[in-house]
Amino acid sequence: MPDPAAHEELVLKGIGVSPGVAVGEAYLIAPEVLRLVEHDIREQDIPGEIARFEQALIATRQQIHEIQKQVNKALGERKASIFDAHLMVVDDHSFVEKVVAGLSEQKKNVEAVVYRVTEEFADVLSRVQDDYLRERAADVRDVARRILRNLSGHKLSDLAGLQESCIIVASDLAPSDTATLNRDKTIGFATDLGSHTSHTAIMARALEIPAVVGLHDASTRVPAGAVVLVDGTRGLLIVNPTAQRLTYYGKLAQEQRHIRSELAALQGESAETLDGYRVILSANIELPSDSDAVIRHGAAGVGLFRTEFLYLSGDHLPTEDEQVEAYSSVATRTAPHPVIIRTLDLGGDKFVSHINTPLEVNPFMGWRAIRFCLAQQDIFKTQLRAVLRASRHENIRLMYPMISNVDEVLQANEVLEKAKQELRAEGKPFNENIEVGIMIEIPSAALAADILAPHVDFFSLGTNDLVQYTLAVDRVNERVAYLYEPAHPAIIRLIKHTIDTGREHGIWTGVCGEMAANLLIVPLLIGLGADELSVSPVMVPMVKRIIRCLKYSQALELGEAALQSRSASEILAQCRKLVEQIAPELLDFVV
Ligand code: PEP
Ligand code: MG
Repeated sequence: MPDPAAHEELVLKGIGVSPGVAVGEAYLIAPEVLRLVEHDIREQDIPGEIARFEQALIATRQQIHEIQKQVNKALGERKASIFDAHLMVVDDHSFVEKVVAGLSEQKKNVEAVVYRVTEEFADVLSRVQDDYLRERAADVRDVARRILRNLSGHKLSDLAGLQESCIIVASDLAPSDTATLNRDKTIGFATDLGSHTSHTAIMARALEIPAVVGLHDASTRVPAGAVVLVDGTRGLLIVNPTAQRLTYYGKLAQEQRHIRSELAALQGESAETLDGYRVILSANIELPSDSDAVIRHGAAGVGLFRTEFLYLSGDHLPTEDEQVEAYSSVATRTAPHPVIIRTLDLGGDKFVSHINTPLEVNPFMGWRAIRFCLAQQDIFKTQLRAVLRASRHENIRLMYPMISNVDEVLQANEVLEKAKQELRAEGKPFNENIEVGIMIEIPSAALAADILAPHVDFFSLGTNDLVQYTLAVDRVNERVAYLYEPAHPAIIRLIKHTIDTGREHGIWTGVCGEMAANLLIVPLLIGLGADELSVSPVMVPMVKRIIRCLKYSQALELGEAALQSRSASEILAQCRKLVEQIAPELLDFVV
């Protein structure tokens, strides 16, 4: 294997998730650069710290099993059995109990408690006479390092205080890390885990930072401080790029800058096909500050405001007033265009340490989004009151995520009605006719769209989840990323069915999943009848350009052909052919 430390070029292939090229020093989020952060906690923080600890233990156990498997394959069973001792530490009840008890006694964060407890264990072991037991001290320390890394991997406090521009290379980044990092100093991301629709990827696009995920073991192969190049379009991480490579990318970046400046001229133009068919092209945002990018890139409002990031970026639940302020600022900024505020979608791969949610084996199928909100109605009603109060700006709409049956819509609307009654009684103004929509992101909702439609004003297809649930492919698991296929005939049919059913009931349908930003697929979605496409702000100009180069008749033909096709590759080939014909210069931006 080439030694990158010796400045030899090393090319690592992953999944390109945010277009563009960045060159800079690697800032490694790896064990050796993790500092142990110790701080006080309150009594009410303890359950959250226990949950983090449990999560870290699960991850640690999985990693040890994985290493054991690899060692077994490479060096045989005997060597692999060394790791049984590591597993024994993770599974040791007295260790787990001591950490849990330590949290209450010491009122320190779990990293600090784990460190103390494991040091105590290791200390005792290293002083006994027995050679075998003495060696176990090293195992305890090894496992402790791993647990601490897993804990810190979810709370990279360093990221907020980055001083120099750099490219972050990490095993993974939690949404709460990306939500709080220093945006000015981060010029690229490269992570071992993740896929196109994991929230690190979504956040990278929102930040307009080139990113590659799913790089498997990059974080262990890149030396800290090495010069790295991230090619977010082709999914490459190049360590110690050669002069030749840098020249090539320099030219490419120049060309891309040129195309982008041409695209910038589209800011005030509408998303209209050559033959006069109009599509609403709006943007997805995570934080109120993203609304500047919505305007800058010429989007017609916000098609999806992922409000959970308000909950992820602070250290407390956002109050009603704070939320009113956040929603109003977006509405004012983007008026007269609509802003669709999606209610809290926690769970899946988005967790908040100050909201105590149980650890689940299968979080994407578990207690997330509307399920969580209907069970925690105080949190939900606070948000609904805030959205209603902000709806004095008449461009605000409301949307519920993860609807799987009509009862959830009815129950959510009941809570909404309660919130309205309260506000009326308090004399606080709001839009009585606020439009309420639902996300169609579970196959049951798509198939039963006729049952749901009478109760809502619009549908928005959340294809990130729709693909995951329809094809049974975990959207953040890079091992099965090759199966994650938005152009699968089953998905195309579900989309068509939802749109047609909506139309029959007089309601419009948008697409706010990442599929809407896939430049190859945009004409197809229009051909299937999507009324609105909502994409990350950075993708708006390119999507607009495709639409403006397209004839609606071509889109309809493509839609027809796709519905007759037998495989994703067949459908994608037709999509590519059309884009090659109408806007070949944009193929370089297809991620
Ligand atoms: C989706 O699932 O497509 C979606 C837009 O929601 P999120 O990515 O936040 O789950
Ligand atoms: Mg979703």
